[in-house]
Amino acid sequence: MTTTGAQGGQQAALGTGVQISGLTKVFAMGTQRVPALDHVHLHSDQGSFLSLLGPSGCGKSTILRILAGLDTPTGGSVKVDGKGPAELRRGHELGIAFQDSALLPWRSVLSNIRLPFEVAGVRVDDDYVREMVALVGLEGFENAKPAQLSGGMRQRVSIARSLILKPSVLLLDEPFGALDDMTRQKLNLELLRIWTEKPATTLMVTHGITEAIFLSDHVAVMSPRPGRIKEVMDIDLPRPRTPEMQRTPEFHAYVDHASELLFGGALSGDGALA
Ligand code: ADP
Repeated sequence: MTTTGAQGGQQAALGTGVQISGLTKVFAMGTQRVPALDHVHLHSDQGSFLSLLGPSGCGKSTILRILAGLDTPTGGSVKVDGKGPAELRRGHELGIAFQDSALLPWRSVLSNIRLPFEVAGVRVDDDYVREMVALVGLEGFENAKPAQLSGGMRQRVSIARSLILKPSVLLLDEPFGALDDMTRQKLNLELLRIWTEKPATTLMVTHGITEAIFLSDHVAVMSPRPGRIKEVMDIDLPRPRTPEMQRTPEFHAYVDHASELLFGGALSGDGALA
């Protein structure tokens, strides 16, 4: 097992991948100041899969929201592949999928996946939309409305929509967090398959230790609020990853190390944080 300390991914080439330097965020709540992030440094390689793991309220989503340009930092800087959030958004280079799939209820599956083309004001590539429907396993449901789909299927639509403009950067905030364990496992495998076919520099927020280790090249473990990076674990498991790998001693060693970092060893049955 290798770890790269609080700086993470020292080997990352300059100007590529996730580059977060001295990121600080203080929220103002009336007269109160809520420090959410305290000098977060985080670097990963272009095209790599980085997960953020940490207790509730440690600022994981805030990091993602700042990268997505939905919030602004109090201090420090964030870039992906050398570009700031505004530039990434302008170039439609960001794919975003959050826990609540945020689909438009009156639109069909096809029409929801097509939406980013319309927002970007570019010609809709319907062949590619259908290819994406197949990639996420939703053939036969093209005309269904979100209310007619299961939670897992809605998240598939959300993932397909996040990928439709071939983003170079993928931001995932607990994309399968609201789903039962079996569906989540299945969708994690799907996500791996899709990510392998359409590689993007990925940053995922999760509560799940096993999920983070299974999917990622690097897992950044955070401290409680105000969030700091405690350690970045480099996950040296071969790809393609298979579910059987989760039963190997190497995998268990990563899980033990992450749970030690998070709460001194104790881990709930499903590898999720309380
Ligand atoms: P996590 O994703 O790790 O659960 P968040 O990034 O959502 O944590 O939140 C980090 C901290 O910042 C929390 O204490 C949360 O209450 C606070 N926070 C987040 N957004 C706001 C906001 N808009 N106003 C005030 N406080 C906020």
